[in-house]
Amino acid sequence: MKVVSFGVGEYEAVGWLERGSVLDFTRAYGLYCLARDLPGALDGCSVLAMLRAGIFTVEMFESVRAFVKEHRLGEEVTVEDCRLLAPLPRPPRIIALGLNYAAHAVETGKEPPKEPIFFVKASTAVIGPEEPVVCPKGIGRVDHEVELAAIIGKSGRNISRHRALEHVAGYTVLNDVTARDMQSRDMAASRPWFLSKSLDTFAPMGPCITLPDEIQEPGELDLSLRVNGEGRQSSNTRDLIFGVSELVSRLSRYLTLEPGDIISTGTPSGISPVEPGDVMEAEVEKIGTLRNPVVAGK
Ligand code: MN
Repeated sequence: MKVVSFGVGEYEAVGWLERGSVLDFTRAYGLYCLARDLPGALDGCSVLAMLRAGIFTVEMFESVRAFVKEHRLGEEVTVEDCRLLAPLPRPPRIIALGLNYAAHAVETGKEPPKEPIFFVKASTAVIGPEEPVVCPKGIGRVDHEVELAAIIGKSGRNISRHRALEHVAGYTVLNDVTARDMQSRDMAASRPWFLSKSLDTFAPMGPCITLPDEIQEPGELDLSLRVNGEGRQSSNTRDLIFGVSELVSRLSRYLTLEPGDIISTGTPSGISPVEPGDVMEAEVEKIGTLRNPVVAGK
């Protein structure tokens, strides 16, 4: 099951993908609740609201899909000409990883780490598919970083490795765009590199969330990134130093993971600079391609 956030004019809702079409889950869920005398659709029915209510599950999406089929509502809930939005436009946190692929550690001149290197990327940087990444004037080198991102569905602390995936609601693609010169200056001065990762528009996300019915094992997915159609990054998540289960487990030793938190697992080798006029396409197997143009800002 692939879930999206979409917009048509002012209307924004949650949908799912079926045979190349977007179906309006928010609407279908309203009808489903009505038919079952349930309290009714949540206000807005966003992905985050669903995660927090504990209903962003394969079972719920399957039930509503079966309901639509049973009552022949397919045509009624099919959406024409919508734009896809970031699946989770303002996640509570984006927890990202530094140097989590050995070959990428080597290309940056560093040793592969013995402990995961966690940092936070501002949620306000998130944009959706096709939205432009804006490079402010004078910012210097800006790099792409294709990453597999896991979305937390269930709260937890001290989560064991073998139960970690029960806390993951689904997976998406995140392009961890980085102001590299700014980051290098901050690192050289032993300062945190938060800002270089957190510029507005520097976290393209999407195009959908793939639920765990289609990704049972997040550790064997091809991922790649193209700039203007030319391959730059190409790897597989089996080369992750710390995989999704390990990351969920280790993080939760120290902090409570909450629904909507995103763990962006780090980028493989092949990072390279982009410039205004370029188009980035970040792709992860079983999720899809996230396409964003780069433009110049003020
Ligand atoms: Mn990264």
